[in-house]
Amino acid sequence: MTTVHEKVDRIEADAVNKPEQRSLYAARVKVHPKRAHGTFRTLKWWVMAITLTIYYVTPWIRWDRGPFAPHQAVLVNLADRRFYFFFVEIWPQEFYFVGGLLVMAGVGLFLITSTVGRAWCGYTCPQTVWTDLFLVVERFVEGDRNARIKLDAAPWTFNKISKRVIKIGLWLLIAMATGGAWIFYFADAPTLAQNFFTLNAPPVAYSTVAVLTGTTFIFAGFMREQVCTYMCPWPRIQSAMLDEHSLTVTYNDWRGEPRGSQRDRRTDAATTYGDCIDCNLCVAVCPQGIDIRDGQQLECITCALCIDACNSVMEKIGRPRGLISYSTLSDYTAHKAGTRDPDHWPSVIRPRTFIYIFVWGMIGVAMLVLLAVRDRLDINVLHDRNPLFVQLSDGDVRNGYTVKILNKRAEPRTFRLSVEGLKGARMFLAGSTKETSDGLTVDVKPDRLREMKVYIRMNPKDLGQRETSFRFVAVDMNGGENADKAETTAHFHAPSGRKHNGEHD
Ligand code: SF4
Ligand code: SF4
Repeated sequence: MTTVHEKVDRIEADAVNKPEQRSLYAARVKVHPKRAHGTFRTLKWWVMAITLTIYYVTPWIRWDRGPFAPHQAVLVNLADRRFYFFFVEIWPQEFYFVGGLLVMAGVGLFLITSTVGRAWCGYTCPQTVWTDLFLVVERFVEGDRNARIKLDAAPWTFNKISKRVIKIGLWLLIAMATGGAWIFYFADAPTLAQNFFTLNAPPVAYSTVAVLTGTTFIFAGFMREQVCTYMCPWPRIQSAMLDEHSLTVTYNDWRGEPRGSQRDRRTDAATTYGDCIDCNLCVAVCPQGIDIRDGQQLECITCALCIDACNSVMEKIGRPRGLISYSTLSDYTAHKAGTRDPDHWPSVIRPRTFIYIFVWGMIGVAMLVLLAVRDRLDINVLHDRNPLFVQLSDGDVRNGYTVKILNKRAEPRTFRLSVEGLKGARMFLAGSTKETSDGLTVDVKPDRLREMKVYIRMNPKDLGQRETSFRFVAVDMNGGENADKAETTAHFHAPSGRKHNGEHD
């Protein structure tokens, strides 16, 4: 089995020895990861089971939102521009919550990476999880590493073809289920499922499933480690976050070198060998096809499977576990210099850890407070620009406004729309002659915005200036003492003196 580094070494040697054959391209060497057993493998099984369950099951969780909203716990309703997450409902005007969540995710990723390294890559990244799932199928159909290498090299017999067909068929089913699950986040899942299978779903649903089926199938089935190494920007970004106190998977060469196989040790009694028996099991289990003994590498996703593999070898040969371990650079350096107890557990907590936790916590608290105090009612007013005012035949002045009232609750509500700060104002709705100075009664459907044209009429004697500032106020009439209330500032325009810019009615 050739590792990526052996491949690079070969290219470099060729470049030196045969300059005429120099090439910067190296074909991929297929990786056949062997199944690992141990603590980190078990942890990865659990993470895989939990993340996959969350992904596939979440759209099917029902949540009672009353008669006027979809009963789906997590839903991105693009048609009505609404995001539902259990008891939280986010409107487009409240997109800052989504922004806050993204900032929290970013700071969380900084926190995780600076302390436990690329834990995201090794355990929870979708590429890692789905590749692991596809590998389960591959092992089930074709066997473990040696059997797969043998099958790859074998001629195309009926046995090989049938195994490939079964494997690819199962991969396609998983890929389709993956693409299929995604669209259920964007519409009521039971309804969409029924429409999808009766070919009544919108074309975008089929195209989304097709694209996600294709990408899942190709990325997890064929490209695998190449996605992490060549396509993902994260390995490059993470180097800016790691420092000498971040955990990474480390080969403790101060303990393992000089390495030598069991046969070397029997035949070469003059050399004092380290703990590494050069069995290559750490390389065989690596899903990235690298040798951790070459040092820190961009390809390493810190999945820790090589730790499990090496620990099992150490147990067999009666040496302490941890030849490959999670370690920090400062710990590794101290161990190598012999200034640290071998059993010392590396400390990853430092000032920047607290800063990340503080920032992350503050954003979280701010969002919770905003969520608790946010209004479920909004009002927006636009003054007519042309004409700015109208002088009526009886001398009164009239201004027109477009008023929008947003009912963010899942039930119909009735609001009192009134004006404050404009003494003597009378208002009426377009199309109605019924004037009132007490305010208008406005019904708004659940989860909807109502737009209406409102006129305000004033006697110029009650106005002290050309432009008077006042407030439109909307109050939930059935809300009692703590009724939802929203207000916004507007202006009333009048002619100055005898001359004016408006029109006579
Ligand atoms: S070197 Fe070890 S930790 Fe890194 S990807 Fe390979 S198996 Fe995982
Ligand atoms: S599994 Fe351990 S002993 Fe075997 S080659 Fe890797 S580091 Fe050496």
